[in-house]
Amino acid sequence: MAEPDLAAAIKAALAAVEIPGGGDLAGYAGLSDIIVTPSAVAFAIAVAPGMEAAFGPAREAAQRAAQTVAGTRKIMVSLTGGKPPAKAGPTFSHGKPVPTGKTPVPGIKRIIAVGSGKGGVGKSTTAVNIALALQAGGLKVGILDADLYGPSIPKLLGLEGQPSIRDDGIFSPHEAFGLKAMSIGSMLVKDQAVVWRGPMATSALRQLMRETAWGELDVLIVDLPPGTGDIQISLLQQAIVDGVVIVSTPQDLALIDAKKAIDMIARFSVPVLGLIENMSYFIAPDTGTRYDIFGSGGAEQAARDLGMPFLGAIPLVMSIREGSDAGTPPMVTAPDGPEATAYRAISQQILAQLPAVSR
Ligand code: ADP
Repeated sequence: MAEPDLAAAIKAALAAVEIPGGGDLAGYAGLSDIIVTPSAVAFAIAVAPGMEAAFGPAREAAQRAAQTVAGTRKIMVSLTGGKPPAKAGPTFSHGKPVPTGKTPVPGIKRIIAVGSGKGGVGKSTTAVNIALALQAGGLKVGILDADLYGPSIPKLLGLEGQPSIRDDGIFSPHEAFGLKAMSIGSMLVKDQAVVWRGPMATSALRQLMRETAWGELDVLIVDLPPGTGDIQISLLQQAIVDGVVIVSTPQDLALIDAKKAIDMIARFSVPVLGLIENMSYFIAPDTGTRYDIFGSGGAEQAARDLGMPFLGAIPLVMSIREGSDAGTPPMVTAPDGPEATAYRAISQQILAQLPAVSR
């Protein structure tokens, strides 16, 4: 069935779903648009604060009704209200209680998020190569593309096709160069623009993270969207994130709204593990000579001013760009090259910054 027809058919099926207070879901003003991708269907039900529990059965009925029409597509129904997360028992991280609502992701020992002040600084490229460098160090690693507004992990890792969905509705992640990988990008048709409403994006993030069969992972790297928006808040709010690393270019160091990012991260009792300077120096392809084209030491100083560790610098090299565009990261194609050496050194710094606790 063509995607617009399927959205209409699902909407029609939702007419059979009763909602609290009378009426049906198809006619309910709080029902969002129905997004259909080749492998998933997503919609949200906005409810008044405090009405989430009452709408629980309607959500489940909506899930079932949509599934009968949508065949093998994964159904992602989110219920959004204005209430703070429901009270759960206290959870502990690094020996300290964490705000209620945060829960570990089963099987995943560590979650490290990679963020940046703005787009285009090489955050995703860095996230992928750091993930591969951690793996090269003997860890089991996954990567989650949380940049729902501009997912680039499929391209960077050369992911093909869509993730398969098990009978129980759980995604089987892609495997690329030994990494487990999930991205909404591989569920969209080329150039399909998805206009996420804030709550739907946060719900999609939750499902990509929690409804994926990651298996046992030592580390899950989460590639965040740039800036400090709803996805970042949602991740920090719902998952026990062990730390955030921030990627910046030398030119943008002065511009990163680091204070804002740090304040936001601190609100959720998550440590900033440090700053990575990307596209920092140039290595001449012929002689291998290093040129500090932007001067040296700027990032280290900036990190110090911001009160965060400096994790290292990555050269500006064509091979990174070309390899990334081709879906063959330099950590894979030239594991002994200077780029890979830089990524490995940074991955070790990141591990050194992680609080030494086991879960
Ligand atoms: P972001 O996630 O911050 O938006 P990307 O990772 O998509 O940025 O990178 C933006 C562009 O910069 C891409 O074309 C990428 O290949 C290129 N790039 C990233 N890091 C480097 C580097 N160290 N040297 C050269 N090009 C790079």
